[in-house]
Amino acid sequence: MEELAINGGTPIRQTLINYGHQWIDDSDIQAVGNVLKGDWLTTGPNVALFEKAVADYIGVKEAVAVNSGTAALHAAAYASEIKPGDEVIVTPLSFVASANCILFMGGIPVFADISPDTMNIDPSEIEKKITPKTRAIVVVDFAGLPCEHDKILEIAKRHNLIVIEDAAHALGATYHGKKIGALQKLTTLSFHPVKHITTAEGGMIVTNDSILAAKMRSFRTHGIDIDFHKRGESNLWLYDVVTLGYNYRLPDICCALGISQLKKLDQWLSRRRYIAERYSQAFSEIHEISIPRVSLNCEHAWHLYVIQLNLDQLKVGRKEIFQALRAEKIGVNVHYIPIPWLTLYQRLGYKKGDWPITEGIYERIISLPIFPAMNDRDVQDVIDAVQKVISYYRK
Ligand SMILES: *Cc1c(COP(=O)(O)O)cnc(C)c1O
Repeated sequence: MEELAINGGTPIRQTLINYGHQWIDDSDIQAVGNVLKGDWLTTGPNVALFEKAVADYIGVKEAVAVNSGTAALHAAAYASEIKPGDEVIVTPLSFVASANCILFMGGIPVFADISPDTMNIDPSEIEKKITPKTRAIVVVDFAGLPCEHDKILEIAKRHNLIVIEDAAHALGATYHGKKIGALQKLTTLSFHPVKHITTAEGGMIVTNDSILAAKMRSFRTHGIDIDFHKRGESNLWLYDVVTLGYNYRLPDICCALGISQLKKLDQWLSRRRYIAERYSQAFSEIHEISIPRVSLNCEHAWHLYVIQLNLDQLKVGRKEIFQALRAEKIGVNVHYIPIPWLTLYQRLGYKKGDWPITEGIYERIISLPIFPAMNDRDVQDVIDAVQKVISYYRK
């Protein structure tokens, strides 16, 4: 058997391949360069153009650009009128921002466990957590696989709750023929470099509700009631601040990059789907790992490719497999440490053990590299490294 790199053997590759990476080409550079040579670096024409491009792509009326996915979640929580003491149901298996946006508003995150086969929030667990204080639900299309949106919509309607969909993983995914973003009241996106398209930092909220969109436009710029350009037209100095807002504006430079990136999204999604298929084919023969599932009537966006280790068939735990893959120069990662396990949440009183499905799965998951700029050699390296490491540690 081949000696593992972690034991002094030759690694599968020489340079580390990260789990995600942006793809910037000359057209992106030119788009950004053009803005830099112009008059508007921050609030300029590309903001509205980028918003319209994303809204059209998804098929919704409104899109509000902000300077991160986290700011998008904050704006969505604000628009949902989450008040201090309101309970908001959220998945424990996500990036911390999915729950932090509830804390930003003084709300109380209530974690509902996931379904083991999809790793998405389990609608029946949502139902169990509803109380008279529940105001909203934050759902995440984990790894890019759409949640059970029909069931979630039905529960929300029956209990008069607003749904915020954190679709940071799911730009371009579809659910029963509809694009993610066109399903729930408010959907947030992230344009961080590891996401489907990038603006460096950046985010957006999409919605069909024009009143909520106007609220979030004011929220992203200090709570000012009229935007800078309209003020210019009216030729007066007047503006008013009605509510407390922030500076969450996405610069024109970033929006120009976003417009340029969006043109490539569909091609990149096909590449992500192709890589996922290559992995699933190769790994379906390795019984020590379970491959991610694809749901009927959904198109997965494959932000992440998360395998689950069948630990009872392996001689070592997740940590050893993770470190062995890293030594082979495969930049594996873990998505995510359960949010209620983080110190901030522990201090708020959340108790380990309350989300057995999430916590059990957390011990077994590893994210493999997946991004459109990976070439076929990179994909094969990941497959070879997984085969090498698993064969070594199989019982
Ligand atoms: C990336 C991500 C965010 C935060 O986005 P930023 O743009 O980094 O602020 C929020 N939720 C999820 C699920 C994410 O993956």
